[in-house]
Amino acid sequence: MPSATLPTLSRSEIELHNTAKSCYVTLGNNVYDVTDFLDSHPGGADLVLEYAGKDVADILKDEASHTHSDTAYEVLDDSLVGFVASEKATNGSAVNGNAANGKVKEEEEEEELRYDSKGRPIHPKTGMSCEEDLSKDTDLDSDYKTYKFLDLNRPLFGQIWYGGFDKEFYLEQVHRPRHYRGGESAPLFGNFLEPLTKTAWWVIPTVWAPPVAYGVYLASQGFENGWRQASFYVAGYCIWSLLEYILHRFLFHLDYYLPNNRVGITMHFLLHGIHHYLPMDKYRLVMPPTLFIVLATPFWKLAHTIFYWDWNVATTVFCGGITGYILYDMTHYFLHHQNLPLWYKQLKKYHLAHHFLDYENGFGVTSPFWDTIFGTPLPMVTNVKAN
Ligand SMILES: [Zn+2]
Ligand SMILES: [Zn+2]
Ligand SMILES: [Zn+2]
Repeated sequence: MPSATLPTLSRSEIELHNTAKSCYVTLGNNVYDVTDFLDSHPGGADLVLEYAGKDVADILKDEASHTHSDTAYEVLDDSLVGFVASEKATNGSAVNGNAANGKVKEEEEEEELRYDSKGRPIHPKTGMSCEEDLSKDTDLDSDYKTYKFLDLNRPLFGQIWYGGFDKEFYLEQVHRPRHYRGGESAPLFGNFLEPLTKTAWWVIPTVWAPPVAYGVYLASQGFENGWRQASFYVAGYCIWSLLEYILHRFLFHLDYYLPNNRVGITMHFLLHGIHHYLPMDKYRLVMPPTLFIVLATPFWKLAHTIFYWDWNVATTVFCGGITGYILYDMTHYFLHHQNLPLWYKQLKKYHLAHHFLDYENGFGVTSPFWDTIFGTPLPMVTNVKAN
């Protein structure tokens, strides 16, 4: 029950506020005092008064009567005065006279969870309440004024490098998602280097599938039995799934073990920070091939160290792993940008919750399997469904 800070009002209590002197409306479980707003309503005060004391969910959605922009919801956000009491909770609860003066108790409100205009909790760490929020344009100027982190109107790289951010502040801010101009790519360098900072999803299979196929072909010459090679290939693929979890959790989100200096912070930003900062940027999502080579080389060496007795086995396992990586990066892209069928829908919710809900859990992208094994699952799937 979201009753900790603001009063709970019974339906009958709310219905009393049906005049121009005191006008309440509800949206879901939230109660709003829109008295001050009556005169500024574009459709006139009377239209609002028709709904005084009543629920406005339907009229806000009903585009035929008149469209309501996001501003309508923002106006509501600012005038939240309480919550609708559930029928049972009404008797003898927080319903009291001072709710009628319609003043929001702001000091108290700040301590607790806040709610968006549809009554969903706004998560304090991300400032968001649902996956759709990830695709809502950030007001670039006010974002910079409010948080004094990065100014999205200017190239980001220099700001990170010269910003002198403290690690803790950086981590707090970089995991708070922003959305740049309808999903365009925010400038990173703002010069001729800019195109090099962008990687389209199809680059991944185009660049890496041919060498994988060639590697498998070369190694196949050392196998007498095709099935034997296939099983090493599948083993490599399975190893990838664990690696995907480990890399995302311990390298990409090195977070609290990150060195507190500009090199550490800039590396974090380029590797994964930027994806949490601007999660819906289509060209800063999959791994640029140059970065991939740097990360994959140690694994090539590792495979050949473990399977030192047979180059063909090592290469086959490695190629199976890279296949896993290619599918992972494509899946990651599609989870963000594609409407997907069946269980991928759940996977999409799961991964987007890693962004808008809790970046310290939910590291599995192609499956939540390792999250459940290592105790970092997102408990959200049912929650999100409820909306
Ligand atoms: Zn992180
Ligand atoms: Zn993501
Ligand atoms: Zn992440």
